[in-house]
Amino acid sequence: MDRTPFYERVKERLIRYARVDTQSARASDAVPTTKKQFDLAYMLRDELIGMGASNVWLDEEKCVLYAALPSTLPPGRGMAFGLVTHMDTAPDAPGAGCKPWVLTDYDGGDILLNAEKGIFMSPREFPNLLDYVGQDLILTDGTTLLGGDDKAAIAAVMTMAEYLIQHPELPHGPIALAFTPDEEVGGLARDLDLDRFGAGVAYTLDGDYLGYYEDETFNASHATLTFRGRSVHTGTAKGILINAADMAAEFVSLLPPLEKPQFTEGREGFFHIVSVHGAVEKAQVDLIVRDHDGAIFARREQLLRDLAAKLQAKYGAERVSITVTPTYRNMKEVIDRYPFLIDNLKKAILLAGLTPQSIAFRGGTDGSALSHRGLPCPNLSAGYENAHGRFEYVPIRSMEKNVEILLHLSRLFGETEA
Ligand SMILES: [Zn+2]
Repeated sequence: MDRTPFYERVKERLIRYARVDTQSARASDAVPTTKKQFDLAYMLRDELIGMGASNVWLDEEKCVLYAALPSTLPPGRGMAFGLVTHMDTAPDAPGAGCKPWVLTDYDGGDILLNAEKGIFMSPREFPNLLDYVGQDLILTDGTTLLGGDDKAAIAAVMTMAEYLIQHPELPHGPIALAFTPDEEVGGLARDLDLDRFGAGVAYTLDGDYLGYYEDETFNASHATLTFRGRSVHTGTAKGILINAADMAAEFVSLLPPLEKPQFTEGREGFFHIVSVHGAVEKAQVDLIVRDHDGAIFARREQLLRDLAAKLQAKYGAERVSITVTPTYRNMKEVIDRYPFLIDNLKKAILLAGLTPQSIAFRGGTDGSALSHRGLPCPNLSAGYENAHGRFEYVPIRSMEKNVEILLHLSRLFGETEA
């Protein structure tokens, strides 16, 4: 397979970034959730300064790194856009001690990841491997995740930045870069300062399937139902005892039985019980609600309130309480107001020789939250595979292609009038 001038740069970068453990943590209230995310932030900061990027600034409290590439166009020409990638890796598999290595010219067979421990990766279990026969893959030793999510994207963004700085003759408007912590634990780029960021539109680079983009995510909320019972001796309980655990079970039984993640796909929404715990005196049900469609989503939330009201009517208002907390909203209603965002992205993907494809993403992205905070922000795939696990890998060509897409995008935004 022909290598582009970006091959060595993205390869070296992903390997170097993957060796830095930046795993975030769910059970942490700290900001960022783990200090070690700063290890990569400092590395990237120094690298950006070294390559000559502008306005490089690390928020040493929140662990958000900013940089900019100034316009090469006459004043007032072209539109500013931004790129947002996340520095943390998922807490779902070990992250420390990652030993990335390169398999060249993959032959389509089983891959020995770790001879000592006898760990193989086979296309029988991971048929996506067959899409990359003949390509060079960056792999793990089968004991940690790779962290290509999202470091494959960081490698592509850094390589694009370096290339644009080295080629001031290439026309582009202002480009804003941000590197954020804690995406994997629901950080939603909360601490990204939009004034400092300096672009009015942006893209996240995250996700698998090279050439895919997302402009549609779930609407999401979290509901907690609390049931309060009355405990007395079971021998004399008749007409007196109220069992909170029974009320919780009754609530669960009233939910639509087929509207669950295990029975839904595409644009079908769901209720998902995250936890049920309790005893006679008190019980609690936590669940999440998801739907792409805003109106149906609102009806789902209303159903929960109606069920709570029904149980209140039966057992007493003081015995049942519900809180519904929004998590994120579908970005599409925002993105649709900026059609050039997807037009430019599709053109850039096509110019890189790929077919742009999109799916209604069954999840949320930092871009879902950013879009509703005033930074319209669709998502472009980062090109990693098997994320969040020990069998994660990144085809080097996917990162090269993303550099090409980003370079086309920078030129297209230079031609877009603000
Ligand atoms: Zn990610």
